[in-house]
Amino acid sequence: MAVTVIENSSDMQRYALNARHEGRTVALVPTMGYLHAGHASLMAEGRRRSELLVASIFVNPAQFGVGEDFEKYPRDMEGDIRIAAAAGVDVIFAPAAAAMYPAGYQTYVDVERLTLPLCGASRPGHFRGVTTVVCKLFGIVQPHLALFGRKDYQQLAVIRQMTADLNMPVEIIGMPIVREADGLAMSSRNAYLSAAERQSALCLCRGLAAARALFARGEHAVTELVHAISSVIAAEEAAVVDYIELRDQLTLEPVSQADGSTLAAVAVRIGKTRLIDNCLLGEE
Ligand code: AMP
Repeated sequence: MAVTVIENSSDMQRYALNARHEGRTVALVPTMGYLHAGHASLMAEGRRRSELLVASIFVNPAQFGVGEDFEKYPRDMEGDIRIAAAAGVDVIFAPAAAAMYPAGYQTYVDVERLTLPLCGASRPGHFRGVTTVVCKLFGIVQPHLALFGRKDYQQLAVIRQMTADLNMPVEIIGMPIVREADGLAMSSRNAYLSAAERQSALCLCRGLAAARALFARGEHAVTELVHAISSVIAAEEAAVVDYIELRDQLTLEPVSQADGSTLAAVAVRIGKTRLIDNCLLGEE
């Protein structure tokens, strides 16, 4: 089946409301496009669970800080349409930035404590942009369920909090991280990496694997586990650490002792590219 591309928010809302009135289950996969197998896994699960599957493609200016990569963020609508079609998407919603944030726009959604640490600390305003656009997308697409990847672990936690706090009737589904064969977490930003940087970028997943291995050998001390990650990353000349942290998987508060459900999260710059990855310490 061919994918329908809708750019206008009112058209999208009418289409979705119509499906709901017909009793169809609507699923939404929000993305910034430049789709890869990670996005496709969310779409495949959305397909399984819904009768109308919508994927949004919107590089959201509100979630990029000054000096970040909004202008050069990779875009490929033709490729995206192909991948979305193969994953079973019915409708791609691809609004223009000026239509999402017209002159006079003044409403934002702010989740408080969960957005303070980790990526929230190094990207001020980022999650405010994320929650605002997701809230708008929920209003436009009216989904029964929405799928997000654990690759952006904090984002998933923040969206769950927003949905609960604002009584939004949307089921939030978190999906596993899809990785390349060598372990690198798939990301649209991997397209920025040179061949040498691509190799260096493996220090994120290898650092996390070192922490999991140490934990499996009985180490529960946070400093030792963080050290296991940082020594793998420090061995890469091109890598500059933004953060390496162990946190409670639900509250994202620091932990005094690690256990199997503790989140290990890293953000590392490889050259000009900022990459993130995470795992739970007890994961295989
Ligand atoms: P993005 O286009 O980067 O904003 O991502 C859109 C959605 O896809 C988010 O919910 C991401 O967490 C998810 N996603 C991105 N990369 C991956 C991956 N490697 N595995 C699973 N989900 C992912």
